[in-house]
Amino acid sequence: MGASGRRGFLAFFAMVLVLFSGSALFARDVSGLHTLSETGIKQVVKEAYEKFKNDNSGKNADYIKALAKVDPKIFGITVVTRDGKVIEAGDTKSAVSIQSISKVFTASLVMQEHGAKFLQEKIGANATGLPFNSIIAIELHDGSASNPFVNAGAIQATSWVRAKDSKERWAKIKKNMDDYAGNELAFNEEVYISEVNDNKRNQAISKILDAYGRMGSDPLEATTVYTKQCSVNVNAHDLGVMGATLANHGVNPITGKRVLKAAYVPKLLAVMATAGLYDNAGDWLYETGAPAKSGVGGGLLTVIPGKLAIGVVSPPLDKYGNSVRAQKATIYIIEKLGLNPYAQ
Ligand code: GLN
Repeated sequence: MGASGRRGFLAFFAMVLVLFSGSALFARDVSGLHTLSETGIKQVVKEAYEKFKNDNSGKNADYIKALAKVDPKIFGITVVTRDGKVIEAGDTKSAVSIQSISKVFTASLVMQEHGAKFLQEKIGANATGLPFNSIIAIELHDGSASNPFVNAGAIQATSWVRAKDSKERWAKIKKNMDDYAGNELAFNEEVYISEVNDNKRNQAISKILDAYGRMGSDPLEATTVYTKQCSVNVNAHDLGVMGATLANHGVNPITGKRVLKAAYVPKLLAVMATAGLYDNAGDWLYETGAPAKSGVGGGLLTVIPGKLAIGVVSPPLDKYGNSVRAQKATIYIIEKLGLNPYAQ
């Protein structure tokens, strides 16, 4: 082969390589790891949306009256990669109240202020196997909340955020969530009023914890701040960015701001894996291998560590309080893109 023939062959070879890597969902790099392509993610996110958009199963939460009124048709999916690429399908603008997903960010703030050991020892890092608002779980575990993602542990975490009063505590918690989202999140007054007048069970939980000497501030004051943090509005896009901050080791990939010390990220993700989907967390992990957190507003945030996050909003829930469509869409995306962290 002459010099020009060799050049022609090389050019042809390079072209085949480019075409192949562009069309594949992901290519295998030399180390055998999957490298995701943006086109591949787009295609799968679109498929997930189309596949489940007419799935009406599940029911809005109604124990907080305002949640029953939210449009059950809202359905949006946002993937945000570690380097800040945003891929979306459906209604990613309509917001729902963040509810229990807020627990991740307050736990993160407590870890940032007091360290990972404090969170583990004071609040815990074990699943309860019982519903998120269980009172008996506290009694069964010698007054321990077990983890920061059941109501008990979340109210406790709220109480441990350093502040001179409740106003400052709320401002810090809200600012922290805004930093995760890279956006000033709106407050849902209607949901707040609806829940704050009907949160006797959470008040009882805070009082029991206080009786066990576990609270960092006045229990009822902490319950009110906790109810506020649950009433912050998020859409699928916000959840995607918040999750991507964790996928990116604590730095918001859109704003570049560090929100959590990198060393604490795996600890927080571990609690999400153990207790993120309430008493169904085991089945979720079995299906996906991915740390995630759900909220009764219909949001679901899933983190694929070091790679990306998936934020989904769809209000109808299953019996555990997890969004039905959000789970289905997330499982579909994880399976299709080969994202299960245990399969890497
Ligand atoms: N604010 C809700 C409550 O305390 C949050 C519960 C949830 O999303 N699981 O009951």
